[in-house]
Amino acid sequence: MCAARILYGKPVQEAILEEVRQGVEELAAAGLRAPKLAALLVGDDPASAIYVRSKTRMCSETGLDSEAFQLPSSTSTEELLKRIDELNHDAGVDGILVQLPLPEGLDTDVVLDAVDPAKDVDGIHPENVGLIVQGRPRFVTCTPGGIIELLERNEIEIHGKNAVIIGRSEIVGKPMAMLLMHRHATVTICHSRTQDLPGVARAADILIVAIGRDAMVTPEFVKPGACVIDVGINRVADRQRVEEIFGADADWQKFEDRGYLVVGDVHPAVAEVAGAFTPVPGGVGPLTIGMLLANTLRSARRRLGVGS
Ligand code: NAD
Repeated sequence: MCAARILYGKPVQEAILEEVRQGVEELAAAGLRAPKLAALLVGDDPASAIYVRSKTRMCSETGLDSEAFQLPSSTSTEELLKRIDELNHDAGVDGILVQLPLPEGLDTDVVLDAVDPAKDVDGIHPENVGLIVQGRPRFVTCTPGGIIELLERNEIEIHGKNAVIIGRSEIVGKPMAMLLMHRHATVTICHSRTQDLPGVARAADILIVAIGRDAMVTPEFVKPGACVIDVGINRVADRQRVEEIFGADADWQKFEDRGYLVVGDVHPAVAEVAGAFTPVPGGVGPLTIGMLLANTLRSARRRLGVGS
């Protein structure tokens, strides 16, 4: 029997987008233009193309302008830097998004560092990360920022709680730790070299998992009643692995239709131990895009001189 609360991302995303819509209307009422997001997509990775399309579609549904620039995989770092420089100097652009991962051969650090920090709506430029570390964020990194919104809007207590994060990436693990610490959680960051990972994870009141390994976190990692946030998005195309993870509950129809199932980093059996958990898909995913749009509005307000 599953007694855990399921934390869906969609209602929280809707609430964030509604606030963004109101912000856009306020700008219009003041005679100011709509916020604009520019997205750069390099190469032909189908998943990245889907992400960019859903971001620009969500912009138009929320009243933001957006423009997607599709560049060939042969694009050099210098060419990409030139394009970023043009967008940095384009007064009508408030947010610049470089869709990751970039094709091999492009220097991701150099490219991301070139984005004007005032337009870095992903919140990953070193200057913006520094501001997050100091507890005075300009743009909160989208996925961790979305997780904070999910926790707070579901009234899950952070203050004084033990938070354990598995994964130390720049876009999830590290900024997540800072955001939780500034909300007075006691934070532990785990990674691939952590010893006794299940034992460390079991101390968590809030367990955040961002590793990219399908169903790795099993019930032995989870203190009964803990809140488990699953950031992972893994495509499992191996029939035997699907069987191992889901047993009789596997959605074989979906597997046959697509050739894979999307699975989080957390095993479905964790639902029997946790007090609350995010599903995959449908949990953290929708929040990232909501925060991207919220950051783009914030940027526009600052650049138009009506916000801090
Ligand atoms: P990454 O690949 O950059 O880093 C993975 C991290 O996991 C590393 O810090 C590594 O130390 C740790 N790790 C790897 N194997 C481990 C193990 N066996 N035990 C303990 N730690 C281990 O990760 P990322 O970019 O943060 O992505 C993680 C997952 O989250 C991926 O599945 C990714 O697709 C997903 N993701 C989802 C969203 C979203 O919007 N829902 C956003 C970003 C990432």
